[in-house]
Amino acid sequence: MKNNILFGPAGNPIGFDGKTIDVCDYIRGLGLEAYEYQATYGVRIQKQSAHKLKKNAQKNDIRVSMHAPYYINLSAQKEDVLERSIDRLVQSARAAEWIGAYRIVFHPGFYTKYTPHEALRRCKGAISKLMDDLDSLGIKKFTFAPETTGKRSQLGNLDEIIDICHSFGNFSPTIDFAHLHARGRGCIKEIDDYHRILRKLGDVLEDIGNKTQPLHCHFTRIEYTDAGERKHHVLNETEYGPPLDLLLEALIECGWHATIICETPFLERDALIMQQTYQSLL
Ligand SMILES: [Zn+2]
Repeated sequence: MKNNILFGPAGNPIGFDGKTIDVCDYIRGLGLEAYEYQATYGVRIQKQSAHKLKKNAQKNDIRVSMHAPYYINLSAQKEDVLERSIDRLVQSARAAEWIGAYRIVFHPGFYTKYTPHEALRRCKGAISKLMDDLDSLGIKKFTFAPETTGKRSQLGNLDEIIDICHSFGNFSPTIDFAHLHARGRGCIKEIDDYHRILRKLGDVLEDIGNKTQPLHCHFTRIEYTDAGERKHHVLNETEYGPPLDLLLEALIECGWHATIICETPFLERDALIMQQTYQSLL
C-alpha cells in the first residue's frame, strides 16, 4: 500500500556530505519519500545540475519541492524591492521546472506600514505581474505554494494564504503548522484545532488533499513570543508545540494526501520519527 503522507527533510540531510544532485539516493536509502530543495539564499542551481537532480529524484521516487529565496516582499512599498521579489520568483519557477519540483514555497511579504487588507491587495497585484512575466517567458509548469508565516509582522495568516491561492491558478498553500501555532501564540492544542484548519482549507480550495493535489506542509516544534516565531526545536522537546500525533490523526481521519517537510534542527532524523509515528497510527 502506498502511503498517503510522505515525509522528508527541508534541505540536504545532516548526515549527507555528497553532491545535491545525488541527494535523493540518500533520502531513499533512509526510507524517506520527500525532499525540499533550498534556494533560500538565492536560486543558484544551473540547468544541467537541476536536470540531474530531477532524474535522481525520479529514479528514487522522491517527491521534490523547492523553497524560494527568503528575500521576497510582494507587498513592499518600494518599486525596486517589488521588482527584485518578482524576479526571484521568476528564477525560482524556471529552476523548479528544471528540477521537477511540484511546489515552489515562498513567504509572501510583510505588512510594513500597510493594513493587512492593503498589504494583501498589493501582494496580489505583484502576483498578477509575476504571472504576466512567466507567461511572456513561456514558463508554464509551476505551482506556487505561499506559506503560512510565523511572525505577526509578516503577511501570511491562514486566511490570507487561502485568499491568495483561491485568487490564482497554479497556486496551492504551504501550511506550516508551527508557524500557525506561533502566530496564534500556541493556538494548536487539540485535534479539533487541526480539523478546523483542514476544514477551512477544504471549503475554499476544493482540490486540496486529494491524490493529485496533496497538502504541502512544514512541521517543527516551535518557540514563540508575542511577535510570533522565535526558534525551531527538535521533535523530542515536547514542551514546545504544536502536537504531531494529533496532526497525523486529523490528516488520516480526513483521508488527505500530504507532504510533511521536517524543519526541526534534526531534519532527516526527526522526519523518520514523524514517519514512524504516522505508520503507528495507521
Ligand atoms: Zn516553513
